[in-house]
Amino acid sequence: MSKVVEPRIQFASEVVIPKVQEEIGAVLDEPVICPSCTATRELTFQARGRDAFISCSCGHEWTDGYVTAIAVRQMTHLAYTGQPVFFPAGRMRVVVFPDFEDDLTLAPEPKKDRDDPADHDRFRWEVGCFTTHHAKMMFTMCLRTARHLTSFAMASDGNLFARLHPAADGVALDAHMSTVLVALGLYDAAQRADVAKLHDVRLSDVSALLAPERVLALADLRPPLLLPSGHPCHLRLSDVTRMQTASAPEWDRWRQAAVDILERNIEDAVARKYRPVPAREVRADPLADWFDDDLTWYTGELPSV
Ligand SMILES: [Zn+2]
Repeated sequence: MSKVVEPRIQFASEVVIPKVQEEIGAVLDEPVICPSCTATRELTFQARGRDAFISCSCGHEWTDGYVTAIAVRQMTHLAYTGQPVFFPAGRMRVVVFPDFEDDLTLAPEPKKDRDDPADHDRFRWEVGCFTTHHAKMMFTMCLRTARHLTSFAMASDGNLFARLHPAADGVALDAHMSTVLVALGLYDAAQRADVAKLHDVRLSDVSALLAPERVLALADLRPPLLLPSGHPCHLRLSDVTRMQTASAPEWDRWRQAAVDILERNIEDAVARKYRPVPAREVRADPLADWFDDDLTWYTGELPSV
């Protein structure tokens, strides 16, 4: 795999990080400081794979246990999207997901055949999910979870960041479509397992639904937006059209990115120091910290969650 050159981000002013001071049992704000020349300004940060490096204007380069690749990519995303840049202490504080201009029109209402047992089962399952999630649709939860999984995977993996984030010359449309495929996979896996809660869905089951011979079936799913019927499908018309007309190489890029997003999250849960989980048991609702998000990125004002 070719070596990825990740963007650098420079700060004119000091970057202050809350650091645990074990000797006094407190957390104190400390500026990042060059260990060679004590510079605290004009510092440059760069993520490289799983690591992050800091350099000063004299050319010294060092690492700091608090300055992780995940943190640097969150800062890179903030800078790229024109948001105020801050140091994200901890893990995920920022939705690392590129903006993507698109028509938000939703696809027509999914067709139901009341006499078809499969449709009847799906409707019964949807009603159960709707109740469990306090009047939120299951696909809403799937989209939210998929974006969370993608955001963490992009922030923690340089190769995915380079493929999916325009700050590193990645393709925002690929980030969008792979996230839609993860959401459809979550939705299908939940229905197959007849569960309403995403933390009962195994990511390995979702990954299996994204295998080359199975992934095209996901393009035929039409999750409803609101029950009872009379509302449009919860998928954007543009996504339906793209899935129906995509070339084989496009499908392969989206599918592979979706699988890699799931695998990165599985790998992280397996390697976690706190309550690690066997790969087969990693669920869709990870212990990883959640960040604020809503669904306006997908459907505009609907639904309001
Ligand atoms: Zn220096």
